Amino acid sequence: MRLIATEEAFAPTEYIDEFLKLTQRIDTPVSRYLGIYYKKAEAVRQLTDLEYRLPEMDAHGVDMHLLSITAPGVQAFDARLGTDLATMANDRLAAAVAAHPTRFAGLGAVAPQDPAQAAQEVTRCMGGLGMKGIIINSHTQGEYLDDPKFWPIFEAAVAADAPIYLHPNFPPESMIHAYADYGMMGALWGFGAETSLHVLRLIMGGVFDAFPTLKIVLGHLGEALPFWLGRLDNRYQNILRRGGLEPLGMKKLDRLPSEYFRSNVWITTSGMMSNEPLRFCLDMLGADRVMFAVDYPYEQTAEAVDFIRNALLDEETMRKVTHANAEQLFRIAPAA
Ligand code: MN
Repeated sequence: MRLIATEEAFAPTEYIDEFLKLTQRIDTPVSRYLGIYYKKAEAVRQLTDLEYRLPEMDAHGVDMHLLSITAPGVQAFDARLGTDLATMANDRLAAAVAAHPTRFAGLGAVAPQDPAQAAQEVTRCMGGLGMKGIIINSHTQGEYLDDPKFWPIFEAAVAADAPIYLHPNFPPESMIHAYADYGMMGALWGFGAETSLHVLRLIMGGVFDAFPTLKIVLGHLGEALPFWLGRLDNRYQNILRRGGLEPLGMKKLDRLPSEYFRSNVWITTSGMMSNEPLRFCLDMLGADRVMFAVDYPYEQTAEAVDFIRNALLDEETMRKVTHANAEQLFRIAPAA
């Protein structure tokens, strides 16, 4: 059965170089964390040499990587450099896809630091470059996409029917210290806390009322939000009934919080390799909403593939999770 992995990282060498320059200039928990990671030659090769992963994909029967720039991506830089790096990374990615059209597909990077340019890049990615969607690595220097100044990006994404993969990032500088102790700022906890907060800001900020057809993709089985849907609705309705929305600075939404999650959000299995949460997410969201991912090179291909191949799913659900949902959402051509 075809296996499409949907959250697979890459990075141009120039991006790594710029990042290392940044980490030498500023000393923060994030720069220290990534400065250590990017000094490992193997890690850098896994990200920068796109053909290096093909034998590993072959060895484990992964047919396709849907590639996206690694976090924190171009959002870490000033607007000018971020925009230039996004353009370069997208051109590089398009060339890799052209060289291996059955093995790679791509999500385009944008730099929300310059919303107008980012919107233009969405259009370029989804047009001539043939990308399947857009990647945004959560907050942009402490700012979130519910701020209307970023909405030109959503306008362009909706116009091109581009799903936006809202990928984790470290929590912003203003909150990083509570996470940085004991190394909890990254994939162990900080990534999921940051990204679930971001999606919730989109929901509670009325973004899906303004853009009812906007499609958001989350990794890590929805960053824990499927577990919270009932409580979000319960609290929202409770506050609404008591007339508390306005005093609390909340918005009156057209629908319940969970309804946006069920209709506008897709989730992937990146980094999540146990049956019970997968089963729970399928029960909560339905078989059309869940897609396979490895999270290469941060997770092991062997482990992720072994998990999904042996997951206790009926044949139709397995077909959807391993490839059919990704083919449909990202408009990836079915295997010949
Ligand atoms: Mn990832």
